Amino acid sequence: MAYDDGNIFAKILRGEVPCKKVYEDEYALAFHDIRPLAPVHVLVIPKGPYVSLDDMSATAAPEVIGAFFRAVGETARILGVIDSGYRILANIGSNAHQEVMHFHVHIFAGAPLGPMLRKI
Ligand code: 5GP
Repeated sequence: MAYDDGNIFAKILRGEVPCKKVYEDEYALAFHDIRPLAPVHVLVIPKGPYVSLDDMSATAAPEVIGAFFRAVGETARILGVIDSGYRILANIGSNAHQEVMHFHVHIFAGAPLGPMLRKI
């Protein structure tokens, strides 16, 4: 799937839509999810135009990929959730219900999060 820069996260990156920022560097932006599903629910997005992890891993330079995951860890530290624990999750494609077609990692924390997935 080709990247479409009309998606909401592209608008946030361009400053056209506001966000509640947690962390930002050259490679990534982290901000609070607008519809939180846990007491702490933050999204970390790469600044580059990647639809998904497979897109990013196929097209981004290794240092860009590394810097992105460094930003995920740094965001967890800033949120103060290292000791209590947290979950990261990325929805990719239709079976995973990916809503926004700009790659993003969710960070959930702030309470016991229950089982990883509903039982099948
Ligand atoms: P996905 O289902 O694609 O993994 O998750 C997309 C997430 O983006 C959802 O949790 C949704 O609440 C969040 N989201 C959608 N639009 C906005 C927005 O305009 N601002 C923020 N902060 N989050 C958004």
